[in-house]
Order: sequence, then C-alpha cells, then structure tokens
Amino acid sequence: MTDRLIEGARIVSATGVREGAIAIADGQIRAVGPDVASEHGDATDVIDAAGMVALPGVVDVHNHLHDPELFPEGIDFASQTASAAAGGVTTVVELPTQTPITTPEAFRKKREACADLAHVDFGLVAGNVEAPDVDVERIMAEGTRDFKTFTAEPYRASDGAIVSLMEDVGNTGGKVRVHCETQGILDHARESIDGNTPDVYMDSRPLEAELDAINRMGWFAEYADCPLHVVHVSSGSGAREGGRFKSRANVPVTLETCPHYLAFSKDDVEEKGPFLKVNPSLKSPAEVDRLWDAVRDGTIDLVASEHFPTYRDDRERGWENIWEPYAGLPSIETMLEFLVSAGVHEDRLSWTRLRELVCSRPAREAGIYPCKGSLREGTDADVVLVREEKFTVSADDLQYVGGWTPYEGREWSARVDTVIADGDIIARDHEIDSSPGRGTFLARP
Ligand SMILES: [Zn+2]
Repeated sequence: MTDRLIEGARIVSATGVREGAIAIADGQIRAVGPDVASEHGDATDVIDAAGMVALPGVVDVHNHLHDPELFPEGIDFASQTASAAAGGVTTVVELPTQTPITTPEAFRKKREACADLAHVDFGLVAGNVEAPDVDVERIMAEGTRDFKTFTAEPYRASDGAIVSLMEDVGNTGGKVRVHCETQGILDHARESIDGNTPDVYMDSRPLEAELDAINRMGWFAEYADCPLHVVHVSSGSGAREGGRFKSRANVPVTLETCPHYLAFSKDDVEEKGPFLKVNPSLKSPAEVDRLWDAVRDGTIDLVASEHFPTYRDDRERGWENIWEPYAGLPSIETMLEFLVSAGVHEDRLSWTRLRELVCSRPAREAGIYPCKGSLREGTDADVVLVREEKFTVSADDLQYVGGWTPYEGREWSARVDTVIADGDIIARDHEIDSSPGRGTFLARP
C-alpha cells in the first residue's frame, strides 16, 4: 500500500532532471521514476506537483539553533527547526555557540534537550574546543565525529591546542571544523578603527585574516594527519587557498561557504547596515564573483546556512553602534530559495550541482548518505517541492520568529511549496504542520 504519491514533478537526481513520480510508504521512498504514477495509483494521498521541482530534503550541516545561555526567550531548537522545515531543510547538524560541548555529559544533555524540541532530524557537532585535553573518544561515543574550534575570538584556541585536538580527532576517525581568521590581523585592523557605523565593521575583518588562517589550518591538518573542514569560507580567494590543499593534501579537506557570502558584498552594507553583520565579514564584489566560480567548479564542496538567530530589536541597535549586536544571520529558511533564484535561475548552477551542494554532499559529510540527501528507493522520504514563481522576500512571510531577514525586499523566483519528512507533510508555504519532538537524533556511526 502506498501512503503518498507525488505526481508530475521534475525530479532532480545525480545525473539530471526528469519528470516523474515519487511513491512513499512507511516513511520511506518506495519508488521513483517516470512510470511510478500508474503503478501506485492506490495511494492514500496524491500530491499534484505538476510544474514543480522535487529535491531531496536539504541537509544543512552548519547552523546555530539552540543555546539557552545565549539565545533569548522564544529562540530555541523548536522555533529554529520549524524555520528550517519551512525552508525545505529536513536535516540539521547543529554547532555549539556560547555553551561549549566539550564533555560527553554536555553532549548528552544537549542531545536530550534538542530531541524534545526537534521538528526535523538532527546531528550535533562538539566544541567549541579551546583546551587541548578533550576526551575525544568518549564524546565520539555519544554520537558525533565532528569537533569545532577557532583561530579567532571569542572561542579562540591556541595553535598548540588546535594541533593536539587534530591529532586526537584524526586518530579516532573524526574531523575538525575550523573557523579560519587569524586573530593577530583582526586585532591590528580593529585598533585602527574608531567609528561605530556599520560600514567600519567590514574593515575590522580583512580578507588576509581568512587567507592566512585557511592556509595555516591546511598545514596543521597535514601535520596532525586529521581531516579538515573549513567552515564559512567568505571569499573566492579563500576558496582558492583551501583548494590548494584539497588538490594535494594527504588528508581530506572540505570547504563550505554560506548563502550570504554569495548574496551580498560589503557594498550592500550602506543599505542593510547591521542586518549584514556576520563573521567573517562580507568581502568585495569581485570576491563574491570568484566565490560563485568556486561553488560552480567544485572547489567549494557544500553550502550551509550558518543560521544564527537574533531578534530584530537587537539588530537595530547596530545602526548606532555596530559593535553591540551579535554577529550572524538568520538564513536556514531562505537558503534554498536563494540558491535556486540566484544560482539555478541565473545560470550559475545546474539543478544537479545545487542538489550536490545542499543535499547529497552535506549528507555524505554527516555520514548519513544515501538515507538522507538522495531520492532513491529505500531511503527516508524527505522531499522538498519547489514552485518556480516570482515574489518579493519579506520577513512577515517567514516562519522565523526573529522578525527580520537580510534578504528583505529581494526579488526571487523560487518558493518552497511543500516539505515532506519521513513521509509526512511538515510544511506548506512556510506554514508548519509538525510538532516539537518529531525529529530524531542521527548518531554518527
Ligand atoms: Zn557557525
């Protein structure tokens, strides 16, 4: 018996886009293909997806969704995974923010708290590791392989601590994710700035800080024999630095960028002000163009949202004093619509490349492919249907509770229509039909 049939969609696979149907039973994909509709006409529910594009549910491997010590009332794993679901993201891998996850007990506590609140399936990254003596093995036994550390404040680890961590994690079969900006350059740049206006923020985080840190972390990873994941590469030149290691390193190196580094340059700060405060900061329009090239040609492995939630009021303070609000942008709900509109529809990406960037490759990275990140028989029935339609972005139309989006007023051409997770419809037109606790923890094998 087929529970649900999605008919007439243009289905994106690893090899192309083909019209067909997807049959779902018991939370899994039962069949996919051009002839599936006639064979599964007995389905309890039929979704007419004529004209729509079907992708695997998005797997977002970098976001900040839960930290009771940092995020104010109303911003927690429930409201933020609701925002994720509304944007077509059916699996999230969450990273620590202010509360470090550096013991098995802390990891377990967070996992349990998130499981009660999750609208979508989730994994967790340990970190933010500042000390060299972390019990990597016992933390891994709780269900992760990934450890986050920083070369910059506020969670900066010393060079020695990073090497030690890499050695331990490499030996235990995991991967270290690094925020790459060199603090000495950031300090020097900051000292020469006295203004408080949003534009000066960009000058406080020079491109060279990123280039130097990516380069050094490449050598650190080689030396320590540890796989390296560079989070949020903010520039085309940064991608090039990372690409050098990818092509000849003896350890796996993966590079991630985020939608905002493709959507905005520092020239946009005049208009958007504090609504573009993010670390690393935005770079020049030429760097944005080069970054798109790196996304297209495979130098960048995957795109992740780096969603960081705050309320609009907090952000507004930044018009007066840009140093006051937290850095980071809410972006998990808008990532897919942006990448289709500015990527696929502007001929910068094919549908199959988009699928690699936000579905299959991040799922592999998280160790959950093909169960997640693909639409094939026997995998979890996580599907997002995209409607190709023009609209103007407004925070009012989003599930996100913070009341703002950096993309406000942008004209886009793709809308997330229906989101299915484990065979159930969990969102339609950015309205949620799910309850907290629906999602489950995905342990890394
Ligand atoms: Zn982050």
